Amino acid sequence: MTTTRFAPSPTGYIHVGNLRTALFNYLIARKAGGTFILRIDDTDPERSKEEFVEAIKEDLDWLGLQWDRVERQSARLDRYAEAADRLRAAGRFYEAFETPTELDLKRKKQLNMGRPPVYDRAALALSEAERDALRAERGGHWRFKLDHERIEWEDGILGPQSIDAASVSDPVLIRGDGQVLYTLASVVDDTEMGVTDVVRGSDHVTNTATQIQIIDALGGQCPRFAHHSLLTGPQGESLSKRLGTLAIRDLRAKGVEPMAILSQLARLGSADPVELRGSVDELIEGFDISRFGAAPTKFDVGDLDPLTARVLHGLPAEAVAGDLEAAGVPVEARETFWAVIRDNIETRADIAAWWQVLAEGAEPGADPEDAAFVAEALAILPEPPYGPEAWAEWTAAVKAQSGRKGKALFMPLRKALTGRARGPEMADFMPLMRARPKP
Ligand code: GLU
Repeated sequence: MTTTRFAPSPTGYIHVGNLRTALFNYLIARKAGGTFILRIDDTDPERSKEEFVEAIKEDLDWLGLQWDRVERQSARLDRYAEAADRLRAAGRFYEAFETPTELDLKRKKQLNMGRPPVYDRAALALSEAERDALRAERGGHWRFKLDHERIEWEDGILGPQSIDAASVSDPVLIRGDGQVLYTLASVVDDTEMGVTDVVRGSDHVTNTATQIQIIDALGGQCPRFAHHSLLTGPQGESLSKRLGTLAIRDLRAKGVEPMAILSQLARLGSADPVELRGSVDELIEGFDISRFGAAPTKFDVGDLDPLTARVLHGLPAEAVAGDLEAAGVPVEARETFWAVIRDNIETRADIAAWWQVLAEGAEPGADPEDAAFVAEALAILPEPPYGPEAWAEWTAAVKAQSGRKGKALFMPLRKALTGRARGPEMADFMPLMRARPKP
């Protein structure tokens, strides 16, 4: 059975970059009728925060991406210790003692000599007595001993991959303070949880190479791997620094709709155009990981605004019932009000703004050259309520009184009644007005 997982570290809020990873894994599982696991990678007790675990769940909930179960790495430390024992027994795990400074120095030397900065395995040459002395002095960390051969896999996005293990440092799997690192924890989880498909960013390609050898050493079954390109800004600039400002909760606060985000991320970087979908189920149907390419993917947060507007323009009144209620729109007026303003809003926040204009009257704000004209027009505006002919009758009267016509007539009057230059059909709008413009 197809099983995928989204494995965030709870060290921050999820942003468009990691949501893309989450979405791909979610869609693969759902399309196959499989299982989608939310795996919290919280082996780092200092950086992992409970508030971020909650925030990640809240954001996924809001987006409508339901997980089948939650796993937490912090609850599985005994499993990682057991795997470490097996690697030790298999002769694939060794203790090393270099400090970060020493490692840095080695790397610099290698680079100076034009060699790749790969760990030189000096620790393997230590005698037992030397190891004991170093362990007592500074404690040791544990490295996985790679087999120096080519590591190959068929990547679901990148195609055939081949990495020379000799060009990669033996990965540290357990730190000096005993903390299990992501590479080991992830491998143990993926194999023990029966994960069949792993989609993650192309920054993980080298990890994948080493993980394949660790999985083999532990006798596990390798999942299928696919590495998606990383998002860049609209000009191709790196997004890594800006991702903090592209948190899902910030987009939500700005009024971006979940289906706008999901529709965009489900297609961006693929051979197919972005298409607005009405539901997560529709996204599942149209998703195919093999349509994605290796090239960096340009992401423009501004593209979410027109998509958001289109989501709203397609919604029936029931879908915004909560917003209509919160805005104070009386039950009997909701259908008509929504039908009149729907195509003129950009975010849900506009719902309350339009109702406020209708219920309390527009703010005054005529352009100076129109001030006298508007004042004279308002002087002959009857009191609400207005009938379906009110706009035609009033504008005809103003036209007769002022001699203005066309845009010069209608635009200042629209602005006077709505406070804006653009908006709904005025003939439909006026019957909903409960107040005259504010004086
Ligand atoms: N916690 C890891 C990360 O956020 C998970 C990577 C993976 O999918 O294996 O980078």
